[in-house]
Amino acid sequence: MIIKLPENISNQIAAGEVVERPASVVKELVENSIDAGATKISVEIVNAGKDLIKVIDNGKGIESSDIELLFERHATSKIKTLDDIYSIYSLGFRGEALASIASVSRVIVVSKTTDDDNAKKVTYYDNKIQNIDTCSGIVGTSISVSDIFYNTPVRYKFLETSSREKSKILALMTRLSISRPDIAFTMIIDGKEEFRTDGSGKLFNVLHRIYGASLSSKIIEFNSDNDLFKISGYISKPEYTKGSKALQVLFVNGRYVESKDLSKAIVNAYEGLLMVHRHPAYFINIDMPADSVDVNIHPQKIEIKLENFDAISTKLFNLVKETLYKYKQVRTFDVEKIAVAKEEVKKEEILSDATKKIFEKNMKNNSDIDFYIPNLEEDESKLETVDLKYLDMLNDFKFSDETVEVSEDKEVYEEISFDNDVDSFEDVIDISDENDSEEVVYNEPEKYDENIYSNLDVVGQLFKTFIITQKDDVSFFIDQHAAHERVMFERFMAEFRNQSFGSQYLISPYEYEFKFDDLDIIDRAIGFLENLRVDVEKINDRKYKFTSVPVFEMPLEIDDIVNILDNFKDNFEKSFELLLKPKITMRACKSAVKAGDTLSKEEISELINSLKSLNNPMTCPHGRPIMFEITKKEFEKLFKRIV
Ligand code: ADP
Ligand code: MG
Repeated sequence: MIIKLPENISNQIAAGEVVERPASVVKELVENSIDAGATKISVEIVNAGKDLIKVIDNGKGIESSDIELLFERHATSKIKTLDDIYSIYSLGFRGEALASIASVSRVIVVSKTTDDDNAKKVTYYDNKIQNIDTCSGIVGTSISVSDIFYNTPVRYKFLETSSREKSKILALMTRLSISRPDIAFTMIIDGKEEFRTDGSGKLFNVLHRIYGASLSSKIIEFNSDNDLFKISGYISKPEYTKGSKALQVLFVNGRYVESKDLSKAIVNAYEGLLMVHRHPAYFINIDMPADSVDVNIHPQKIEIKLENFDAISTKLFNLVKETLYKYKQVRTFDVEKIAVAKEEVKKEEILSDATKKIFEKNMKNNSDIDFYIPNLEEDESKLETVDLKYLDMLNDFKFSDETVEVSEDKEVYEEISFDNDVDSFEDVIDISDENDSEEVVYNEPEKYDENIYSNLDVVGQLFKTFIITQKDDVSFFIDQHAAHERVMFERFMAEFRNQSFGSQYLISPYEYEFKFDDLDIIDRAIGFLENLRVDVEKINDRKYKFTSVPVFEMPLEIDDIVNILDNFKDNFEKSFELLLKPKITMRACKSAVKAGDTLSKEEISELINSLKSLNNPMTCPHGRPIMFEITKKEFEKLFKRIV
C-alpha cells in the first residue's frame, strides 16, 4: 500500500540530507546571512552546537509576508524559475534548509527589514509555528537553533564527540571567513570569542586573526591575471609546514572547493623544498567567469569541474614555484619568537589532560626542539617527524582536523529548557564593533639574494658537521652534507639531461624478465634504459640482457635500475627524469661528504663555490635546509648586550 508521508516526516527525511550535524546547520544559516547581503555575521555555539547555534547578521532581513513561509519546504526567495538556477550567484536556492533544520530542532527567528517598524520574532518547534511576536531590534536577522535532534534521538546519538563536532564548525567558519574577507565574522564558542575578522576585505588580516603571527609572518602573497582566469592568494614559505593538510584552502569564485589535481599542482611546486609528510599552507582563489565552472546544484558538493583545467593547473604550478624561488629561503633565528613559542608551550599546564597528552606525544624525544638538528646520513627517513614541531602544535591542537579527543562525560542527552531564550536582539549592534586594536600588515618577504653565497668568510667547521661563515652582520651556518648533497644532485641531474654521464660494463651481464606482457610499456621501459646508456640485448619479448650501467661519479647500482623496471608498469606515464630522481638523490647522498668528515678550508671554499652556481640552493633534495642564518643582533640579544 502506497501512502503519502505526512509533511513533518518528509521534512525530517529531507533534514537527513541537509542537517547532518551542527556544522551543517551553521553552514546553512551563515550562507543565508551571506545571501542576505550581511557584512557582519556573528556565530555562537554552545556545546559544539548541540545545545545552541545562534547566527546573527546585519543583512536585509526577512519580509513580514515571508515569515510564515520560512519553514515550508521549497520556500525560497532566491529563484523563481528553473532557468534562474544557472545564473544564480547566491549560495542556497533550494528553500530546504530552514524547513529541514526546524523539523529537527527548536528555532527562534528574529528579523527586521528597513520597511518594518519593529522586528518580528517567530518561534517554531514540534512541526509548527508556536508564536509570532514583535520586539525591538535593528535591521538584520538572528536565528537561534537549539536542542538539535531533540525529536530524532537516534540521529543525536550518531553525532561525534563535542570536540570533533566543534572542530568541524571551526573548520567551516575558518573557510567561510577566509572566502569572504569583506565580511566581519565573529565566532563565539561556549561564551568565549574564538576569533573575529575585521571585514576589511583583506585576506591577510583574516589569516592573521585566525592563525596568528606564526602563520602570517610566513606567507607570501601572489597573484596573476589573464583573459581566462585570475589567481590570487597566499602560500607559505617552505619553512612553514604542517603535519596535516588542514591549511590548504582553495576557492573558485570565492567558493570553497576541493580538487586533488589542483592541490597536487600547488604542492608539486614545493618539490625538493619540503620534508616528507610535511604539508605547506595555501589560501588561493581562482576567479573565472561563472559559466566556465560546472554549477553544482547539490549544495554540499565541493568537487568542481573547470573549463581550461590544464591551463589553470599549469599556471598554478608555475606561479607557486616562481613565487617560492623569488624570495629568500634561508631559515632565520629569532630569539624573541622562540621565547614566545616556549612561553606558549608552558601554557600546557593550564590545558586539559587530553591536550596535554598531545603535547607530550609531540614533545617526546624533542626536548630541545628549537635547535634540534637531525642526525643525518644514517637514516634520512627519520627526519620527517622533527621539523618545526612545536610551532605546529600551537596551531594544530586548535585548528587542524586532527582533533584533540576530550572525554565526553555527557553521554545522555539532557533536555535543555527551551525557555533560555535568545538574548535581546540588540546584540546585533555589537557584531564586530569592538575595538580592533591589533593592526598587522603584510610585509613582502626579503627577495632571494643571488649573491648569497658570494663573499662569505669561512670561520670554520663546527662539530665536523656545520660550516660557519659570515658576511657583514650575518653569520651563516651551513650543513655540509645537505649542501654537498644538493650540489651533487644538481650535477647528476644536469649530466642526465645533457646525456653527458658515462657508463661502465658490468662484470657479468644481468638478465631481466619483465613481469608483464604489455609490449608498448616494455618498449617505453627499453627507451628509458637507452636514456640511461644501459646496453640492452633482447632475449625474447619479455626477457633482456643488460651489459652496462650508467655512472654518476659512481656507477648506478643495477638493483636501482631493476627496482625502477619492476615498478615501471604503474609509473610508465611519468617522465624518465621523475623516475630517476629518487635514485639520483640516493647517489648524491652517497657521494656527498658526511657529518663527521673533517673539511679543509679549500674544500669548504670549493663547496661554497659550487653552491654559488645553483639556482636558489636552499635545501637538500630531501627538503632539509642547507643554511641557517643568525644575525649579529640576535647574538647581541642572546648575550643581553641589547634587549
Ligand atoms: P534558500 O536559502 O535555499 O532559499 P532556506 O530554507 O535556507 O532556503 O531559506 C529560506 C528563505 O528564508 C530564503 O530564501 C530567504 O528568503 C529567507 N532567509 C533565511 N535566512 C535569512 C537571513 N539570514 N536573512 C534574510 N532572509 C533569510
Ligand atoms: Mg539557504
